[in-house]
Amino acid sequence: MAEKAPKEMRLTKQRQAVLAALRSTDTHPDAAWVYQEVRQSLPGISLGTVYRSLAALVDQGLIQELPQEGKVLYDANITPHQHAVCTSCSRVFDLVLPPLDQLYREARRRSGFHSISAYRLDFYGLCQRCAAA
Ligand SMILES: [Zn+2]
Ligand SMILES: [Zn+2]
Repeated sequence: MAEKAPKEMRLTKQRQAVLAALRSTDTHPDAAWVYQEVRQSLPGISLGTVYRSLAALVDQGLIQELPQEGKVLYDANITPHQHAVCTSCSRVFDLVLPPLDQLYREARRRSGFHSISAYRLDFYGLCQRCAAA
């Protein structure tokens, strides 16, 4: 029996291009940025196709959505991490913190939930560039 191809091998050309664009940056861009980027290799692609590709990639667990101040940003980094958001320039930085097992345990105890599968913790402040300006 043939080895099952990884999820990414079965992606359409459009979805592969969207995924590649997101993986080329760690700036957490929005759909409009992805559209501009992907158009360089696929000039015929529409914004609608970019939106549908992003939604499909989220469904497949290959990227994650970050709702942020009324916009949706996208992140190709799907390993567990938090974000630091600059309140001046709105840039979003990846932040890897020590394991927060105790936070999970407390959240489970206080909520009475059977299990806690994920959490979201964002930090807001001034980035180095804005603080220096
Ligand atoms: Zn800033
Ligand atoms: Zn991130």
